[in-house]
Amino acid sequence: MNRRLCLILAAAASPSAAWAHDDSRPTLSDPDNRPILLTRDVEPGAAQALRQSTPQVSPLLFLNRCPGGCQVSAGDNDARTNSSTIPDEDAELSEFEHSDAVWDATVACVREVFEPYGVEVVTENPGGQSHHAAVVAGTADELGIELPPDTQGEIGGVAPLANDCRPLDNVMSFTFANTLQDNPIDLCWTIAHEAGHAYGLEHVNACADPMTYLPGCGTKYFRDEELPCGEFEERDCQCGGTTQNSHAHLTRVLGEGTPPEPPEVQILNLEADTEVADGEPVTFEARHPRGISRVTLEVNGTEYQERSGNDFDEGDSYQITLPQHPDGVLEIEAVAYNDLGIAGSDEVTVQKGEPCTSHEQCFAGMECDDGACRFPEPFLEAGEPCEHDRECVSGLCPAAGDERYCSERCDLRASADGCPSGLECVEADDNELGACWPEGALGGCGGCAAGRGGASFPTLVLSLALLCAYGLGRRRRQRTAERGAPAGARGA
Ligand SMILES: [Zn+2]
Repeated sequence: MNRRLCLILAAAASPSAAWAHDDSRPTLSDPDNRPILLTRDVEPGAAQALRQSTPQVSPLLFLNRCPGGCQVSAGDNDARTNSSTIPDEDAELSEFEHSDAVWDATVACVREVFEPYGVEVVTENPGGQSHHAAVVAGTADELGIELPPDTQGEIGGVAPLANDCRPLDNVMSFTFANTLQDNPIDLCWTIAHEAGHAYGLEHVNACADPMTYLPGCGTKYFRDEELPCGEFEERDCQCGGTTQNSHAHLTRVLGEGTPPEPPEVQILNLEADTEVADGEPVTFEARHPRGISRVTLEVNGTEYQERSGNDFDEGDSYQITLPQHPDGVLEIEAVAYNDLGIAGSDEVTVQKGEPCTSHEQCFAGMECDDGACRFPEPFLEAGEPCEHDRECVSGLCPAAGDERYCSERCDLRASADGCPSGLECVEADDNELGACWPEGALGGCGGCAAGRGGASFPTLVLSLALLCAYGLGRRRRQRTAERGAPAGARGA
């Protein structure tokens, strides 16, 4: 067995720290007294044969507080029999010693963090069923785990991580609850972090994701963003590339669960049926437990302005100014998206001048409809030639060279790319998400190798990428919850 200690977080606990008071215990949120989280490399071997179907692992995540203590056998990984490659010898872990209230809050947090995935977080032992066993109890000493050489501090958790980042089924991870403070957010973070390793995730250098070492950012959620790998500095990822999308990975491994509720949005400064002018500010609040990735302002159904969401400590207030717009009725909508692309909004109908009575009073391409100048509803499907994002049902009209077609995002890594018939998934960004494009429409690209899930066209990738990024920024809101959409980076 490969026993390489994969990652080390050196944090110096005060040598004179007394344990009489809980606050002297390490907590991930305290940079000066932070526990060490370890991983143990695992050779996946035949028992963990490469999984390509979804879900790839058991849909049960068992949080075990070890009532009366837990026996852990040293041996092959098998959560059903409490057997693990992590301890060298059989061990007994002491029961979770914090209060029931802390336990309940921790369980609720873990359920919320894993809610978007096809996994059920349970607190009853699934017994003979294959499952992930997240032990939340005991100390590293009890498991016989020692600090890596040249480090100080306490060990907060340990988990197996396949050396090729494939998900491990039916294994144990450990959150040493009796070493840590009774802080549900930190316990939740540690549990999600350690289980995440077992599911094949490595570390990211971004505080809003549980696979981080960085404190702050409140409750951490697996982010639908390409985040740089690393601990305290960015580095290449252990299993290829330089970024990791934790949400996309877990969705592939576990399947989809329940999307969270949309963000709450409230326009503060405009009353219905009042008069507004071009350039007037629209002030609104937007909030969501996962934070807000981006906000947009729509007028009569067309998106005009976008800005990124506030960082965790910047509050919930936003202000966007009204664009130049023809006179008439204005339906003003403030929209906020979380990192999963799920949108919430608030809308108010106001007036600018007199209601329009004919198309001629509107800007080119607009129609006068019931006193309001507006662009027609998007009407072009993926693969049809287009000129503006607003024409496409998907809201995406990227270009490659002189060609522009309505497009959709697609998953380059998935065996079925999800593109409509006649379209193929081509690389469009520096990540795993591609764009659907008419087959053969990127012609004249002799010598390009076929990529996985579609073709790769290096000479045209850049222009498509740039315009796709633009297209995404102008993306129309889906009225229903959408999944897997990339989003602008939320501040770390
Ligand atoms: Zn870790």
